Amino acid sequence: MVHFNWTIDQIRDRYSYLCHLYSENKINNEEQRQKLIEDLALLKSMLEDKCLECHDASLLERYHGKTEQLEDIDYLWGEIRDFSICTKEDFATVPIKTCSLSRKDLLDLTHDFYKHCFDHFFFGNFMKSFYRRRDHILFEPANTPGLKEESFSINTTKESFLKVKREFTYDDLITTAHEYMHATSFLINAEHFLYSKEPYSEIDSTLVELLACDYFEGVFKDHKMDALKVALHKKFCDDAHNMSHLMSLYEVESELGCFKCNRDLRRRATECGITNLDSVLDDTPIVPTLDYIFAIEFYYLYKGNREKALNTLKKFIMMEYEDDVRYTRELGNLGLFPNANSRELHKERVMLSRTLKKRQ
Ligand SMILES: [Zn+2]
Repeated sequence: MVHFNWTIDQIRDRYSYLCHLYSENKINNEEQRQKLIEDLALLKSMLEDKCLECHDASLLERYHGKTEQLEDIDYLWGEIRDFSICTKEDFATVPIKTCSLSRKDLLDLTHDFYKHCFDHFFFGNFMKSFYRRRDHILFEPANTPGLKEESFSINTTKESFLKVKREFTYDDLITTAHEYMHATSFLINAEHFLYSKEPYSEIDSTLVELLACDYFEGVFKDHKMDALKVALHKKFCDDAHNMSHLMSLYEVESELGCFKCNRDLRRRATECGITNLDSVLDDTPIVPTLDYIFAIEFYYLYKGNREKALNTLKKFIMMEYEDDVRYTRELGNLGLFPNANSRELHKERVMLSRTLKKRQ
């Protein structure tokens, strides 16, 4: 049975409101009217229960796009081909301790995180979305039958509706912070969210995950450290760097039915003594490679100079998108082109995870 949810009434409600705006000719500005039409199309397709993820590019184009971008980053491309970098730890799933924070706790802690880690500009935009939290964010258990990803934003009314799939681990905090970054950057520049969907729209929210891990690690240091560390481990190691770009290619190749990476990855997994690769892969969220790598660059910038990092983040969100090549170059101009940082951070996290595993 498909699980219908809270958003359906709100979608209907917004749809009829926007229809009203449209039919009454309430919006004269051509650009805004165009956005209104896009919003209407989005809501209509949601009401008709069509797939929300719409990729204009064909699968093959996406694949080429992805691999071209990866080829630009030579050392990564080298790593992708070399599956010997994967170790048993990379394939292992880590049991995460449960933690049942209430809705209020999740929201309060997320609020404190944004207040503490961001400047006035970002916090102000966060609050514009946060103050509507009563009916704009939904937490649902990840095992709810038929649960769908349904976070979405409406241009005309400048609202975001967020859905967090709850795992009842500390990851829920990270996910809540992540989702709120989408709402925040949407308010700063709706185009950032709409036009730069793949693969850039997750950079800022991934940065938030990195910052949130550090922040919550501090918050819970007295009594819940271990559980949080395990969540950190999952985020930083299982999901991260190596696995993320391997998995991205693996996923795309599976879709395409071309099995170069698949074959090599499987061979390596077997060498590492992993026999249940498919279930491991099913459990591993795919983090698009470039998002993560650029987020790490932001993270390091933030560690060195918070003010500069937040200004750069603002510029990044405001950046106009024309094509991937120009966009990537602009990112480089902001000083964010991947360098040794991403490798260093990855190494650090792997070390941390191994230490933690020994302690368990
Ligand atoms: Zn996201």
